[in-house]
Amino acid sequence: MFAISDHRLNPTSELDLTALGLEMYDFIIRLYPVCRSITGNGVRETLQAIREYVNLEIREVPSGTRVLDWTVPPEWNIRAAYIKDPSGRKILDFANSNLHVVGYSIPVHQKMSLENLKPHLFTLPDRPKAIPYRTSYYQKDWGFCLAHAQFEQLIDGEYEVFIDSTLEPGSLCYGEAYLPGNLDEEVLISTHVCHPSLCNDNLSGIAVATFLARSLAGRSRRYSYRFLFVPGTIGPITWLAFNQSRTNSIRYGMVLACVGDDGPFTYKRSRQDKAEIDRIVSHVLATSGKEYEIRRFIPYGYDERQYCSPGFNLPVGCLMRTPHGEFEEYHNSDDDLNFVQAEALAGSLHQCFRIVEVIERNHSFLNTAPYGEPQLGKRGLYDGTEEQRHALLWVLNYSDGSHSLLDIAELSNLNFSIVAEAADRLLARGLLKEADKKSLES
Ligand code: ZN
Repeated sequence: MFAISDHRLNPTSELDLTALGLEMYDFIIRLYPVCRSITGNGVRETLQAIREYVNLEIREVPSGTRVLDWTVPPEWNIRAAYIKDPSGRKILDFANSNLHVVGYSIPVHQKMSLENLKPHLFTLPDRPKAIPYRTSYYQKDWGFCLAHAQFEQLIDGEYEVFIDSTLEPGSLCYGEAYLPGNLDEEVLISTHVCHPSLCNDNLSGIAVATFLARSLAGRSRRYSYRFLFVPGTIGPITWLAFNQSRTNSIRYGMVLACVGDDGPFTYKRSRQDKAEIDRIVSHVLATSGKEYEIRRFIPYGYDERQYCSPGFNLPVGCLMRTPHGEFEEYHNSDDDLNFVQAEALAGSLHQCFRIVEVIERNHSFLNTAPYGEPQLGKRGLYDGTEEQRHALLWVLNYSDGSHSLLDIAELSNLNFSIVAEAADRLLARGLLKEADKKSLES
């Protein structure tokens, strides 16, 4: 027999969430030292680590491949880099922080004056102790990033700069995990894997997506789920280029980024603005008991830009805590292991569970006894809390085939779970039946 309780996502008890938060934090500790970029071995190593939790297909797309309006760039790898001061002392070493080298730096080994070196040095004068994060993917250049406080100590003289990197034909790799459900329609979860030692942006997104995928893999699913672990911008563009026909199946989607700090949740709606995913996340956050903000779509930010480009216009929003660029630790070495917290990661995963619960359990039903209220007491339904009894009345009254459980949750301001629970009980007593053929497929 059909029961929407089958689509409940377990477990979400406090205890399990605490343990999951610590597990995700440990995963971040493990991935933190890896030097990631939009291509290269750091991404492969990261995807291999994710594969220990999720059945991930790792795709390699050769450099030079045309993808939509872009071309897959040469592959970048780096082994070592340093700067030696005029006395021959190593004053900056890639081994201490992979943020020290501008991502995609071409190889260099030469001696030069401080004056000539300075255009290749990048600092944050307003945050003098932090090392900035910089890249130069599509313009051949090299550079170093360092704390402004250290920069100010540099003396005149001849410096030796060394970057042992390669920029050669190779491939771009990304990870894809597909979890088939009863329906071919898909839920897309996408997160970027191209940042080096930065925790909130975006090891937090990687950790939450990985653990969400792991939880979903172990349960029955109405929808199919596709998880993409992709380098920013070029990653989703590559996936979209090869999967244009598949995009018709994407019914819901979310980009996960910056979900490990203790800031309030921020959801950026899809370009469609009122897609069901936008309504679902708004409802989930509104009933979370936590501070949150809903924002309109803007054409910059994370990879939702590609999924929401006008040709695709997919129902894909972006779930964050403090948005990119709005926390001081953003794109610098202070976005470290102290900045993200196990509890915040667990809270983000919890909201993802709740979002998936709505996606899985949302149906439309028909009240089978719509003339007058059916007598609940004689069916053993007049029990529970006042909220639970109200939920029964809301579901009975609005189950006219044209209102979904999400509609009813929005109308009643009741938590979706309570509404879905009420529907489950009414179904079991024969007071509801399926409203449409599609929901029968589960
Ligand atoms: Zn970033």
